[in-house]
Amino acid sequence: MDHKSLLQSDALYQYILETSVYPHEPEPLKELREVTAKVPWSFMAIPPDEAQFLSLLLKLMNAKNTIEIGVYTGHSLLSTALALPEDGKIIAMDTDRKTYEIGRPIIEKAGVAHKIDFREGPALPLLDEMLENGEMNGSFDFAFVDADKENYLNYHKRLIDLVKIGGVIAYDNTLWRGTVVGPPPAHMSEGFINIRLFTLEINKVLAADPRIEIAQIPVADGITLCRRLY
Ligand code: SAM
Ligand code: CA
Repeated sequence: MDHKSLLQSDALYQYILETSVYPHEPEPLKELREVTAKVPWSFMAIPPDEAQFLSLLLKLMNAKNTIEIGVYTGHSLLSTALALPEDGKIIAMDTDRKTYEIGRPIIEKAGVAHKIDFREGPALPLLDEMLENGEMNGSFDFAFVDADKENYLNYHKRLIDLVKIGGVIAYDNTLWRGTVVGPPPAHMSEGFINIRLFTLEINKVLAADPRIEIAQIPVADGITLCRRLY
């Protein structure tokens, strides 16, 4: 059940890490990855190859204003903060400030804490507040969604108005350990099986949404990139 399961072999994943990822991994990200590895539920953090992919994508897009839903200890958040320009801003949301506090000293040491506006609480009402305010509509270059999978559809309904035309929403874990094909494996808990069903649903909705063009990226556990068209 680890992140390399979508590749043909552990050796292939190791090859990618050693050849392309670790030699270029920023020191603060490495430190946060190592600290996170000792925290309960550490498998929730995005893996280093995904952090590298997101970082490059943000730079290619010249992204400046972003949203993150699902921070945990801050691995994807720090990767984003390092990729954005000095005046870049991330509105980052999580119900759990305690796990964010584990990563925060490393984020501060990396000199990028000023780019982060951490908002504690369930993301849906926080997004609704942003939409009600109105000023932020169509203003974000990028949004990364990596929280409660049962709400991905609800996040999509809101984020489509918050990202600008040409902006990108990235949904994480959209291949759900490869279980989107075939029957659910016998060893999966009920919670994981339910997430499989939510994943199948969001994948169907995203593929049929005329407001976006999409690409399914089989990095890590699958990332669906959605570019807003209108
Ligand atoms: N992107 C993170 C990283 O790279 O380390 C991992 C995020 S982890 C998979 C999911 C996070 O979503 C958890 O920290 C959890 O507290 C948070 N979460 C769960 N439900 C949420 C909700 N309704 N609103 C905001 N955050 C939520
Ligand atoms: Ca994830």
